[in-house]
Amino acid sequence: MPCYNEAESLPEFARRTKQVLAALGCRHEILLVNDGSRDGTLAVAKSLAAADPCIRVVNLLRNFGHQAAVTAGLDLTESDIVVLIDSDLQDPPEVIVEMVAEWEKGADVAYGKRRHRSGETGLKLFTAGAFYRLMRCLTKTHIPEDTGDFRLMDSRVVKVLRGMREQHRFIRGMVAWIGGVQVPVYYDRESRFAGLSKYPYAKMISFAIDAITSFSIVPLRLVTCLALGILLLALVAAGIVFVIKLVNPGFFIPGFPAMMITVIFFGGVQLLALGVIGEYTGRMYEAVKLRPLYIVEAVYGGTASSHAGCLNPDPSTTSKSGG
Ligand code: UDP
Ligand code: MG
Repeated sequence: MPCYNEAESLPEFARRTKQVLAALGCRHEILLVNDGSRDGTLAVAKSLAAADPCIRVVNLLRNFGHQAAVTAGLDLTESDIVVLIDSDLQDPPEVIVEMVAEWEKGADVAYGKRRHRSGETGLKLFTAGAFYRLMRCLTKTHIPEDTGDFRLMDSRVVKVLRGMREQHRFIRGMVAWIGGVQVPVYYDRESRFAGLSKYPYAKMISFAIDAITSFSIVPLRLVTCLALGILLLALVAAGIVFVIKLVNPGFFIPGFPAMMITVIFFGGVQLLALGVIGEYTGRMYEAVKLRPLYIVEAVYGGTASSHAGCLNPDPSTTSKSGG
């Protein structure tokens, strides 16, 4: 569970999640990743870990972002199944029961698909819908619509995911790319338990650009098509001007405005093309630096297990046949 300034939600989140896991009766560990929170999240998380040996806290050195925090959690888990869930209670922990049932039936991934989203603005719903439709046009990987990172994954999937170290991460897309049996579990997304979203529009747009550029080179191709189209248009226009000049040499008055419009238009097109290419070049630059995706400051709690998860009653309930 990535946590960024979630001090108010955490105790309730831990209580509800514990309740669900106790009802499931499986061995488990709750891994809270504190992503450089500036409120009392770390203190709250540490006190939860002190009271419950099944809770482990990974404290990142600073805020690395949601996707990096999730990656840190994935790197530190060794259980048979892993559930990614937000700690603001927008993803109801109770849905985990259905996800586990799908896993027992043979699913490698059971992803939460939102039936209804409370507490989200019309603009957020519209932009999210438009984004997933755009992604469908731009990439062959089918990324299910109306899903977030709330999902259960088998350790086989987690293992592959751990090996994918790209800097600009779009985890739900990366999981979809891996393949295997991936099934939806429908749920109603609730309002935040407390506080505000940590995804303002600027962050969301940057996340969408990360998603598009890490899954598709179609924008690069579009630039080429645009350039070819404009070149063709210019040739046709030149031909027309040539013919008119032959037929009626005095037809054109030297046109300054027309010339300016043309210059500005082509200047804009060139800058756009450079911008798109720049987006990809910038990402290559980030990739070749091979910097770590996050830095762990310390790990607290989790005394029930040295590393792999757990406590609780009946380990047999988590063993998947054949795996
Ligand atoms: N989060 C994080 N680091 C960040 C931003 C968010 O770990 O830099 C966590 C946050 O605590 C929450 C989850 O990621 O558990 C999703 O964030 P949020 O609820 O703000 O996004 P939204 O649900 O509004 O899209
Ligand atoms: Mg949220």
